[in-house]
Amino acid sequence: MNRPQSTPRLTDFRRIVVKVGSSLLVDAEAGRLNDAWLKSLIADLAALYRGKRDLLVVSSGAIALGRSVLKLPSGRLELEDSQAAAAVGQIALAHTWNEALSRHGITAGQILVTLGDTEERRRYLNARSTIDKLLEWRAMPVINENDTVATNEIRYGDNDRLAARVATMVSADLLILLSDVDGLYEAPPALVPSARHIACVERITPEIEAMAGTAGSDLSRGGMQTKIEAGKIATASGTHMVIASGRIKHPLDAIAKGARCTWFLTTGNPVTARKKWIAGSLEPKGTLSIDAGAVAALRRGNSLLPVGVVRVEGEFARGDAVVIRGPDGVEIGRGLSAFDAEDAQKIKGRSSADIDSILGFSGRAEMVHRDDLVVGRE
Ligand code: GLU
Repeated sequence: MNRPQSTPRLTDFRRIVVKVGSSLLVDAEAGRLNDAWLKSLIADLAALYRGKRDLLVVSSGAIALGRSVLKLPSGRLELEDSQAAAAVGQIALAHTWNEALSRHGITAGQILVTLGDTEERRRYLNARSTIDKLLEWRAMPVINENDTVATNEIRYGDNDRLAARVATMVSADLLILLSDVDGLYEAPPALVPSARHIACVERITPEIEAMAGTAGSDLSRGGMQTKIEAGKIATASGTHMVIASGRIKHPLDAIAKGARCTWFLTTGNPVTARKKWIAGSLEPKGTLSIDAGAVAALRRGNSLLPVGVVRVEGEFARGDAVVIRGPDGVEIGRGLSAFDAEDAQKIKGRSSADIDSILGFSGRAEMVHRDDLVVGRE
């Protein structure tokens, strides 16, 4: 099968989030993991990893695995049943990923997030810096929703949208949704076997949304609708997305070789989109006035260190947007503060090495990290 001319290649991307659905990982009838398939996926991940790509996995399967360990009957589970099943299943899931990745010499790091961690400013910053650190150490984050504590109001419930949020949070340039279908069809293929497959979606229009139907399988919560939702989140933030089949072994290799799948393209770039978000959509809650040395450092692309800050104004929390002004009061840029206003007051003008003793806990070395900073032109 030929890849349409306009779709990108996997090797074009530097940071890739791969979402794996429950029904691929867990063989519901046998009530166990699809070991052979997982091995083949991990061989593909390892190849990309060796090719110096940053890789993150969003893995479902906690509830499904817990269910099989506990021998729960099939059918819908009450919320507390799924939470308890996830508590059992997540251990097995993490163990599986850890074992399988370590066979390729890759270290896994487990991250369990809730809706708030990817949406609420402060926790977003926390989750992101933890993931960044893992990637810097070349460990592979294995992410799932924290199903054991998440109640209906604070949960995603489906890992498609969660994966899209994670992808935008870490400025990934590609999100791969491995699913039990090989992409989007004009109508749900289970209902209309002759439905035409769509290889590439340049823009998510109401017609595209209408193609999604409503179906989802028993094991996974996400049907095509949540995948389209994920596509909207991803493409609005400069991340390309592809829905591909995980029903075959070596599913990533298959995408690279042009297997049937659906690409959702974005015209944006994840870093620019994030910077736009910081510069444009957030209402600044305070001001940091900085000295001339810090202005020069920021213009060279460095982070803002506490030592360069001379005045802190406003009431802001960690993760809030702040305006940064030079000695003449002119706005230099905007960024997300790594400290709240009170702590920022205490550490301004001080060396990063002193932060621990001043605050009594070990904070970040930067007041505003360069990834959270947008510096205007001179
Ligand atoms: N977080 C859920 C689990 O691990 C899965 C949600 C989904 O399938 O999208 O069981």
